Amino acid sequence: MEHTPLPCDTLVTAGLIVTQDDERRLLPNAALAITDGRIAALGPAEELSRRFVPAAALDLSGCLVLPGLVNTHTHAAMTLLRGLCDDAPLTTWLSAHIWPAEARLTAEAVRLGTALACAEMLASGTTCFLDAYLFVDAVADAAAASGLRAVLCQGVFEIENAGFKTVDAAFASAAALADRLAGHDRLRPAIFPHAVYTCSAATLTRCAAFARDRQVLLSTHAAETAKENEDCRAANGTRVIPYLHGLGLLGPGRLLAHGVALDAADMGLLAATGTAVAHCPKSNLKLASGIAPVEALRRAGVTVGLGTDGAASNNALNLFGEMGTAALVQKVATGDPTALEAGAALDMATRDGAAALGWPELGRLTVGGPADLCALDRSRPQLAPGLDPVSDCVYAASGGEVCCTMVAGKVLYRDGAFPGLDYPGLLRAFREASGRITGRTP
Ligand SMILES: [Zn+2]
Repeated sequence: MEHTPLPCDTLVTAGLIVTQDDERRLLPNAALAITDGRIAALGPAEELSRRFVPAAALDLSGCLVLPGLVNTHTHAAMTLLRGLCDDAPLTTWLSAHIWPAEARLTAEAVRLGTALACAEMLASGTTCFLDAYLFVDAVADAAAASGLRAVLCQGVFEIENAGFKTVDAAFASAAALADRLAGHDRLRPAIFPHAVYTCSAATLTRCAAFARDRQVLLSTHAAETAKENEDCRAANGTRVIPYLHGLGLLGPGRLLAHGVALDAADMGLLAATGTAVAHCPKSNLKLASGIAPVEALRRAGVTVGLGTDGAASNNALNLFGEMGTAALVQKVATGDPTALEAGAALDMATRDGAAALGWPELGRLTVGGPADLCALDRSRPQLAPGLDPVSDCVYAASGGEVCCTMVAGKVLYRDGAFPGLDYPGLLRAFREASGRITGRTP
């Protein structure tokens, strides 16, 4: 029986759709019908082309289509500081290089640094990111203009900085951000106490109360190094994870970045409280922090997403690099080549990362869900012959194969160009701003 075709905004035809739905279905020669930024239908291309009359058609028939990737930990505007200091210990890197440069930050520089980061993320398939940095209003301006989704955190810490003078001012800014983003369809507010070594117990507790009262995510750096545990024990009598637990910072809607130096009791606490972890393998390797026990965390039932960390400690904002690295280092760390298989790494970059952000409808392509996707050009040599598309994404792809990225049904990146963005103008202004902050010109 024939039905009258339905209108839709866009009909996307794809060579292969990796849905990342609950069944992890792979759909060859498939299509997505998109209306009002959401997926109205998903199925065989031939069937959908009969069922729908689209206002626009997007031909990705030569592509592998994935859900947009989710970056659960970054400091986007640190693109301004990329390459300023590499190959140094974390404490030296922070206190001798990063913090002095950050003292020269301005809201406009942060806006430009975030905008450049958004372009970089779109070009490598990322459609949602969690950001924690200074001048959150400027971050929100850039994220709003970029078209990406984001969880935007007000950073809180008790060291002198360019963004705020007092902790009270940081909380006032956090409250204003929550008001500003209330009801926003792409941006969500959150709070980010920097770490146990830069925030007092009173400030950490106040952040937890803020998250509870305003119903927002709380994220923090935690257990990034063994030294952090030793220092925490010396200062507070206990390791980082039980210390955070005692202050009420663990639980659902709580996301710990790094989680490298965790023992079995720490992992038990994270699992029991429903606390998620943002794994940042390249940052941890570069700063020689160690390898997070991701396989053990996942087995314990902890939700683990992937993060790039900032561009001054990675130095790229590319989740394809993180997926491959995450899988490889787990094999070495456990001595087991079956550890963190490709499918698990892809889950972390998509649906698990979305769950870690408390935004579970992201990171998967399902009917009724948001039309956030990225497409990889299957004609590239490294994706041939294409026997296992999930393995190809994790072990073979570099991210440079991404030829189209869409958020909420809108194409934000296509074949090297950013529709609606004056990218050459952004790049020029970004380079000038970076030169002012770092005191260096390339
Ligand atoms: Zn970080």
